[in-house]
Amino acid sequence: MNNKKPGLGRVAVKVGTNVITNADGSLNTGRMLRLVEQVAVLIKQGYEVILISSGAVAAGRGDLKPSRKTSLIASKQIWAALGQVKLMSNYQFFFGKYGIPAGQVLATKESFSDRLHYLNMKNCITGMLENKVLPIVNENDTISINELMFTDNDELSGMISSMMDCSILILLSNVDGIYTGTPGMPGSELLRILDTDATNVDRYITSSKSSFGRGGMLSKYSIARQIAGEGIDVFIANGMRDSIITDILKGRDVPYTRIAAAPKRKNGVKKWLYHSNTFARGIVYVNEGARDALLSSRASSLLMIGVTRIEGFFKKGDIVRIFDSKDRQIGLGKSQYDSEKAEMYIGEKLKKPLVKYDYLLINSKN
Ligand code: GLU
Repeated sequence: MNNKKPGLGRVAVKVGTNVITNADGSLNTGRMLRLVEQVAVLIKQGYEVILISSGAVAAGRGDLKPSRKTSLIASKQIWAALGQVKLMSNYQFFFGKYGIPAGQVLATKESFSDRLHYLNMKNCITGMLENKVLPIVNENDTISINELMFTDNDELSGMISSMMDCSILILLSNVDGIYTGTPGMPGSELLRILDTDATNVDRYITSSKSSFGRGGMLSKYSIARQIAGEGIDVFIANGMRDSIITDILKGRDVPYTRIAAAPKRKNGVKKWLYHSNTFARGIVYVNEGARDALLSSRASSLLMIGVTRIEGFFKKGDIVRIFDSKDRQIGLGKSQYDSEKAEMYIGEKLKKPLVKYDYLLINSKN
């Protein structure tokens, strides 16, 4: 007989810095334990869970006052180096109590920009889940510098849940969700459910941020909407509430904002490309004919004959943005030529496309 419990689905849970740190930035181990208990319950029930946890920089801050000649960037890197170890040792210890081995995955934005790195990371997390090792993901803050950083861990958790085909993403911070005004003020109501087509939500959201984390509600909402558009149900909820994760998954009437999943799911490569705009290295301008072909319902590749101009430097395999003659971005794709060769072959009738259909994401089509 097969005793294996049926898989209930794959859930990504993102824990914000403010949920697991005290006002002075030190780790709130009591809160961490509450979260660990809930994740342990889910795993026992048959869910596959991926935890994305912030808190490294805050946890290290109290341990070191860097010397005057250390820059702010270096200070943050050092705090992360110190704090990430603390974060993980607490998680390992707490999950260990439940017999759950917890492993660390540190990602950089670059890990997502290269298709091979992306697949390596995906294989690693898949292998961890298969072997019942809980992946705990954070950005590798020790080697990330501003321009190459994820906007925040909300963005990272979105990319992870998309890459790992999760069915649910839960974003936990210290507010209950998206309100129609300032939370706690009279008349301000929690928006319970939104779909990806909801309009005017942005105007409700103040751009203020929580004290330690990088993200804010605006970035949470924009990530949530993008991820829901890929067929993943997203919940924005308050991680300070006991049993919030388990309550959400049980369908209990607890406070949260749910951004309901759209039915459409993208295939592997298109999904990767969907998150690649910020990695793009160059711009390829195309003529009207190529534009029409790409936007049509036919499966068309981008051929060199339709290219009119190349901007920027890129290598073979890099992501390039595709613009029409009116300077509008119509999509992006993975280039089969480097920029030097592409420049050389502009307008030529070559068999090998600049971007093959399978590696092409056209805005209005995919
Ligand atoms: N990776 C950062 C940390 O662990 C957090 C980034 C964020 O606030 O979203 O401290």
